Amino acid sequence: MGERLKIGISACFSHPDPDRPFFRGKTLQYVEQSMVHWLQSAGALPLMIPSPEGDTKRGDVTLDDYADLLDGLVLEGGADVWPGSYGETPLQPEWSGDRIRDEYEIALTRAFVARDKPVLGICRGLQVLNVAFGGTLYQDIGTQVPEALTHRNREVYDQNFHTIAFVPRTRLATLYGDPLSAKVNSIHHQAIKDLAPGFSVEARSTDDGVVEAVRREGRPYVAAVQWHPEFHDPADRTLLPGGPLLDDFLTAARATRHR
Ligand code: MN
Repeated sequence: MGERLKIGISACFSHPDPDRPFFRGKTLQYVEQSMVHWLQSAGALPLMIPSPEGDTKRGDVTLDDYADLLDGLVLEGGADVWPGSYGETPLQPEWSGDRIRDEYEIALTRAFVARDKPVLGICRGLQVLNVAFGGTLYQDIGTQVPEALTHRNREVYDQNFHTIAFVPRTRLATLYGDPLSAKVNSIHHQAIKDLAPGFSVEARSTDDGVVEAVRREGRPYVAAVQWHPEFHDPADRTLLPGGPLLDDFLTAARATRHR
């Protein structure tokens, strides 16, 4: 199978919290296990990319060093995007998001794209990519798109599902054999408002039109989905399998090795 692809995963941040019973006052950078296992399911070697920035910064390692080393980047799910990243102020304090992570992930994206290496965004990652390339977000779907479905349900978390419709003849539709619709999980309360220039929509939520998948035109591969394919139980045949999406991303990563 050749040398394993080295795929960087952007870190999630747990910022210092004086009320936390463990690592009080410390910044944690971490990855979520199912993301690692999803990438490993295809034989890739996932590696978390730790941010070199922060109050304990030492030395001169940069994100460019990681982008040189790795074959592709996955932007992981997690906290909201800071509205300031797309020129707005938070409508509610709880929608302030994670500015530090935004800056880190936007810089990571630029480093990979500059090297013509592929970037795949998952959930928050879709929102970060849209913002990084000049788009905007709804800060809260429930408030700003009141006719929309419930795209996040705190009680059932990753067991909240809805259907999506693929935009015909897009790359994503082709990968999945142009089905009319598919069922995916939904754990987001932010969504794309203005699509970034140079991007196209590849799937929408069937009932309300909320954007669920996007792709940047041209090279390198930059694509994202609003659902979490890594959370889908492969045994549940009613859910859209993650394999075709992952394989296409990894094929793009492998291609950049042989230019
Ligand atoms: Mn959704």
